[in-house]
Amino acid sequence: MNQTTTDRRTFAIISHPDAGKTTLTEKLLLKGGAIHLAGEVKARGQARRARSDWMKIEQQRGISVTSSVMTFHRSYEGEGDLTFNLLDTPGHEDFSEDTYRTLTAVDSAIMVIDAAKGIEAQTRKLFEVCRLRDVPIITFVNKVDREGRDAFELMDEVADMLALDVCPMSWPAGMGGEFEGVYDLVTNQLHKPTGPSKEFEGDTSQHSGLDDPTLADRLSPRALERLREEAGLAQAAYPAFDIEAYRAGHLTPIFFGSALKQFGVEEVLGGIAHYAPPPRPQPSDDGEISAEGDEVTGFVFKIQANMDPQHRDRVAFMRMVSGTFKRGMKLTPSGLGKPIAIHSPILFFAQDREIADEARPGDIIGIPNHGTLRVGDTLSEKNVVRFTGLPNFAPEILRRVVLRDPTKTKQLRKALDDLSEEGVIQVFYPEIGAQWVIGVVGQLQLEVLISRLEAEYKVDAYLEQAPYDTARWLAGDAAKVEAFMAINKGSLAKDRDGDPVFLAKSAWDVGYQAERNPDVTFSATKER
Ligand code: GDP
Repeated sequence: MNQTTTDRRTFAIISHPDAGKTTLTEKLLLKGGAIHLAGEVKARGQARRARSDWMKIEQQRGISVTSSVMTFHRSYEGEGDLTFNLLDTPGHEDFSEDTYRTLTAVDSAIMVIDAAKGIEAQTRKLFEVCRLRDVPIITFVNKVDREGRDAFELMDEVADMLALDVCPMSWPAGMGGEFEGVYDLVTNQLHKPTGPSKEFEGDTSQHSGLDDPTLADRLSPRALERLREEAGLAQAAYPAFDIEAYRAGHLTPIFFGSALKQFGVEEVLGGIAHYAPPPRPQPSDDGEISAEGDEVTGFVFKIQANMDPQHRDRVAFMRMVSGTFKRGMKLTPSGLGKPIAIHSPILFFAQDREIADEARPGDIIGIPNHGTLRVGDTLSEKNVVRFTGLPNFAPEILRRVVLRDPTKTKQLRKALDDLSEEGVIQVFYPEIGAQWVIGVVGQLQLEVLISRLEAEYKVDAYLEQAPYDTARWLAGDAAKVEAFMAINKGSLAKDRDGDPVFLAKSAWDVGYQAERNPDVTFSATKER
């Protein structure tokens, strides 16, 4: 493989709100020299961004792409100059299907968990999405500077809840009030806090192993005894790190640290640099397309719409799969069939974030457009391949759409079709009853839907509770599916492609039906 196709590390951070994703992101950017001081992101950015074309696009179009893709560079021995593309996975209130889709565009992920809380709901959901494509995961147990749960308990929880092999890469010497540092089990270095803020400021010592007597000069007898006992046991009890198993998504290396105090951040980034895969091949209808291919290809994984309803501008985010993209190049979107020239792509680069001229496999390009590009579209020079495996995800919030003006049915249908193609919502047309059902993954999407219906389609509608909790696509033995559909008409709908969907009252309902109908598959995802 040549360096130009192996020097990208495209990854995301998955976590539950408050576990420390933002803090870790900031520290990673700091390591990569993308920002100079934490907190400087905003202040310095203003002056710089005003200069860049890229910012002009943001201002004119009112589309915020600021934190969607963060790129930084760093050299590593044995790896050369690497470019890191960190893709933001929107959390908190802006959690949406985009959050899931972003994970289809990365080659690996860092899973951040709070040492006091372990695996939380959102972490688990995001992990399941990673698992769909065997995305390799590095685990970062954060906040070891605070009172947390026992390290073994946390490791076992990751192993049991996620059905993964776990391998300790570092070990905390004490936690919370007794925290004295982090021992790197790979390099046998001990990192210790210094000064009153107890941050890591480079106080590192090299040792020959856990039984090295010089460790006694660095740690209190109590902390040292515990470290030797626990870390020794951990090394014996868990499998050794195996890069193949990690890359296949079967094993997760676990790092302990504190994003806030900068412990373990270096190690996690090193893990991404040395172990995480370079741009992986992507499945297509013509077999796997490798990053080595000459033809420029990519797929759209997310569309960001203008927050200002006066503008119908969108930015489509395309993940590059193969080839070298140059500004002005013509690419054909699979949904359109004819080529479009890409004149002002947004390439996310380095500190200045100016419009760059080239993008390579693993990079993300933002393509401004007026709605021609859809989520799941393949873009390519010759228009011969289609990438597969880009799923729709079962909605977690379902609502009925009610029109205030019943003469607007046609407009509503058009709007719902458009918005579902764009990937804002999913729409379901029930077999019985006239009210259409829409599904989303995050609450904010509902607000976006209502405001866009009004602003762009002049449709005055409101949403009401639907008696369903989730949806599953039906597949499997055709006769059995037919039979199931015939007796469950009240819970059936068609999606926008006309595929049958089971609207379930609860997750329990799904399980119950799945058990009673073993020849029918109730799928939580559907390939676009
Ligand atoms: P996010 O919601 O996952 O992005 O979490 P944030 O990065 O915003 O962190 C949530 C809170 O945890 C903030 O108050 C952080 O200062 C704090 N925090 C993050 N990392 C650490 C850590 O390593 N140690 C401690 N003590 N607090 C942390």
